[in-house]
Amino acid sequence: MADIPFFDLAIIGGGINGAGIARDAAGRGLSVYLCEQGDLGSGASSASSKLIHGGLRYLEQYNFRLVREALQEREILLRSAPHLISPLRFVMPCHRDNRPFWLLWAGLKLYDSLSGASSLPRSQSIDLKADIAGSILKPELTRALSYGDAWVDDARLVILCALDAHERGAVIHTHTKCIKAGRTSRHWVIETQSGGRIQQVHARALVNAAGAQADELNQLLLAPEHPRRTRLVQGSHIIVPRLFSHNSAYVLQHRDNRIIFMLPYEQDFTVIGTTDIEITPEHAHMPRIGFDEKIYLLEAVNRYLNVPLSERDIISTYSGVRSLYDDGSSDAQKITRDYVLEVNAQDNQAPLLTVFGGKITTHRRLAEAALKKLSPFLGESSPWTEHAVLPGGDLPPGGLMALVADLRARHPYMSHRHLQRLARLYGTRAHVLLHDIKSADDLGENLGGDFTRRELEYQIQFEWARTIKDVLWRRTKLGLHLAPEQLPRLYEVMSQASLQRRYIQPQIKLDLSPL
Ligand SMILES: Cc1cc2nc3c(=O)[nH]c(=O)nc-3n(C[C@H](O)[C@H](O)[C@H](O)COP(=O)(O)OP(=O)(O)OC[C@H]3O[C@@H](n4cnc5c(N)ncnc54)[C@H](O)[C@@H]3O)c2cc1C
Repeated sequence: MADIPFFDLAIIGGGINGAGIARDAAGRGLSVYLCEQGDLGSGASSASSKLIHGGLRYLEQYNFRLVREALQEREILLRSAPHLISPLRFVMPCHRDNRPFWLLWAGLKLYDSLSGASSLPRSQSIDLKADIAGSILKPELTRALSYGDAWVDDARLVILCALDAHERGAVIHTHTKCIKAGRTSRHWVIETQSGGRIQQVHARALVNAAGAQADELNQLLLAPEHPRRTRLVQGSHIIVPRLFSHNSAYVLQHRDNRIIFMLPYEQDFTVIGTTDIEITPEHAHMPRIGFDEKIYLLEAVNRYLNVPLSERDIISTYSGVRSLYDDGSSDAQKITRDYVLEVNAQDNQAPLLTVFGGKITTHRRLAEAALKKLSPFLGESSPWTEHAVLPGGDLPPGGLMALVADLRARHPYMSHRHLQRLARLYGTRAHVLLHDIKSADDLGENLGGDFTRRELEYQIQFEWARTIKDVLWRRTKLGLHLAPEQLPRLYEVMSQASLQRRYIQPQIKLDLSPL
């Protein structure tokens, strides 16, 4: 018993919500443990549309509170991770078979006013004959509205929250599944499995942030008959070659009035999504795009594009599962996207807080609300994340361009494009990645594109990268850029480097025996 680590807070699930709560709690001085059964962000948090936005369509559901809160968060997140989150201009063409111009205009004016003192451009009406955004659209589309929102590398945002939590003392175990947990009179006893190893941790409070598996987990933690609270809705995206040279995104209304985004992606691509298909829990473990979803997305964009796309243009796809709080809506689209936090702590037992729903955009606020709900059990503490930056987000005056210029001055043997990519992914932590690099040779073997052994080792050492998928699809999007014949070598080097891995050590003050 004596060597079983004891924490204030244990969190199950390393998506954006689990990692966000871990960060906030660790920064308040609580001892925190987080386990994630796969990679950080390997659930819905790497399969989103990657927008930091208020959510225009929630205005039609009169969910002004959610839109206002999300728009406030947009400003805060733009400040806290300026390398990872960037402003993006959206163009919404008016289609005669959808909402009339005046309605879109009124909606966007409301969106502007809910944004308050935003740093992003306000909405405006544009002439598609004169604006570059019109160049790929059918000639009969002449009017559009534009507005500002933001784009995020969702999977990396999860890593940054986990890294910040870790640097503030949290213990983060990836590829570690919670298989059992029960209460004693005063705390939770949590059993985890990693490979063949079963471990135990104790915690005063427990958070279930298991996303699409939240109901399943509660049935394991509380009682097999514990009622389900979520509805599971799959959303898929398709990736096609880059369709336009400018950097604006499109918001396209489909025949059913749903909104489909078409976004510039990874320099060479365009991503199109998303769908909304209600699924059963059995299908939530391995979401996959269906044929009908592909056709639905192609039809949506082909209503607008002057050169239509076909199935042959699809290079890649990804799907994720929204785990939404069941508010009784008959239509999957209309179920609230707001988050709900439920505390289970009858008779002064150790509390279990379950996270339902939520968005990448509102994760920070959700974490604050979670800690408020847990304060009767863990003590009052002050929120602190609003004005804090995430690791690498402390850009110099002049922002990302100034960081790239600084990196270029220190590493003149590296290309501008390479340094720009590192600056975008790692922010000022690019200095850590390159700290003792004096020549191109010091970067080690090139593993494809400009991805080097040094970068791979950095991801293994500081960012919990364990498998090739962690690197190809979450720490980077190299999976889109590398040729299949380059993968075996990356796999080989990854195996060697993992064997020599030196994970950063927890800085926690408690006596923690290794798990
Ligand atoms: C298609 C789609 C598009 C979206 N677009 C946007 C958008 O543009 N903007 C936006 O703000 N939001 C968007 N969202 C919403 C957002 O992605 C989700 O709300 C958010 O990622 C949920 O995060 P989470 O941490 O709750 O869940 P998840 O990211 O799913 O994390 C839960 C984690 O728990 C782990 N887990 C489960 N069971 C266990 C266990 N027993 N032990 C250990 N670990 C376990 C899972 O492996 C998983 O990694 C979108 C969602 C989808 C699906």
